[in-house]
Amino acid sequence: MIEYRLNGPASQERQRIRLMAALRENRFPQSILIDGPAGIGKKALAIEVAKALQCSDPNMRPCGHCFGCKMAVDRGVTDNWVIPMESKEAHAKSADDVSAGSTAKTVEDFKQAYIEEIFKNPYRIDVFSAGAEISVGLIRSMTSAFALKGDRVRVVIVAEADRMNDSASNAFLKTLEDVPPNTYFILTTSSREKMLQTIRSRCLALHLLPLSDDEVRSETLRMLGEDADADEVTDDAVGLSVGSPGKALYYVGAGKKWCELAATFVKGSLLADYYDLFAKLSEAELDEAAEANRFLEVVSFLISDLMRAKSGAKLRIPATTALVNIDAFPRVDVAALERALETVQETMSRVASRRTAPPMLLQSLSIKLFEGCK
Ligand SMILES: [Zn+2]
Repeated sequence: MIEYRLNGPASQERQRIRLMAALRENRFPQSILIDGPAGIGKKALAIEVAKALQCSDPNMRPCGHCFGCKMAVDRGVTDNWVIPMESKEAHAKSADDVSAGSTAKTVEDFKQAYIEEIFKNPYRIDVFSAGAEISVGLIRSMTSAFALKGDRVRVVIVAEADRMNDSASNAFLKTLEDVPPNTYFILTTSSREKMLQTIRSRCLALHLLPLSDDEVRSETLRMLGEDADADEVTDDAVGLSVGSPGKALYYVGAGKKWCELAATFVKGSLLADYYDLFAKLSEAELDEAAEANRFLEVVSFLISDLMRAKSGAKLRIPATTALVNIDAFPRVDVAALERALETVQETMSRVASRRTAPPMLLQSLSIKLFEGCK
C-alpha cells in the first residue's frame, strides 16, 4: 500500500490527516476548496497536495524527487496554475502568438513571475494587487491545455479563486461539471462567501485553521531567512497576525508603519488635534481602499487593546498600545471604546463599498471617534 505524508504546521495536522486518508483509500475528490484566513498557508498545502497527487513513487508520496513531484514545483510550468492578474497582464499576447525575436512580455512571462513569488513564499498576502482578477481568458487558456492528452495526473491550483469574475466563474463551473480524466482542481480562498454557490458545492470544503502564536513566530522567522534575528518578529506583529504567518510577515515589514500611524490616529482623535493628524494621514497616502482598511484593522486592534488595558487583561499589541497613554483620558471608559470600535468597523465597510474616497472617510472617523467624551 502507498503511504502518504503531507508536511505542514502541527495546528493544521487534522486537515492533512483527512486528505491523507482520502489519498490512501484512493477516493480523493476531483476538486477541493481550501479556505481560511489570508496568509495561513493555503497555497503551501495546495502545493503539497499537488505533489502527492502527481507523485509516482510506489511507497511514499510525495517523494520529492520523481518527475511528478518536480513538475509540481517547477516554476516554469505555468499550466498547473490559475492565478489572478491585472487586466493589462492578462491581455498581453500569448507566447504562441508573438513573432520570433519579440522582446514584449507575454502573458506567460507575467504569470511565471507571480508563480515564482508564490514558490518563494506561499504565505505572502500581498503577491497580487487589489485590482487583479481571474478573467474568463485565464480559465479558457487552462481548459485549452487539457486538449493536450497524456496519461499523467494533472493538478490545477486555482489561487484566490474568489477573484474569478462572473464570466470566469461560469466558465469554470462548466469545467467542474465535466472534469477531464486524471485531472484534479485545488482551489484556495480567504473569502469563500464571494464565490458562486454552485462552484462551492462541487468542491470538498477544507477549512484550514490559524496557527498558534509559537508556530507563527517560527514560520515567520524561517521566512525572514537565516540572517534574521528572533527580535524582528515582534509581539505586535504576532498579535496582529491572528495565527497567520503571512500577516505577521507583512507586519514585520511593509505593515509596520500602520502601528505607529494607528497610535497617532487614536491620540490625535482623543486630543482633537486634527490639524497635525490630517497632515500625517495625507502623508500616508491612504487613497486605496485595501490599504486604508489594512490601516483601520490595526486601529481596531489598538482600540480593543485599550479596552484590555482598562481591565488589566493581556495585551495583543503591547508596544503600539503603550504609545497611547489611555490613563490620561479618564472620561474615555470601556463603553466609549466599544462605541469607537463600532465606528471604526462602520468606516471599514464604507471604505470597502468604495463610494467615498478613503482619506475623507478617515478624517470624518477621527472626528467621530470619541465624540462626547473628550
Ligand atoms: Zn514523487
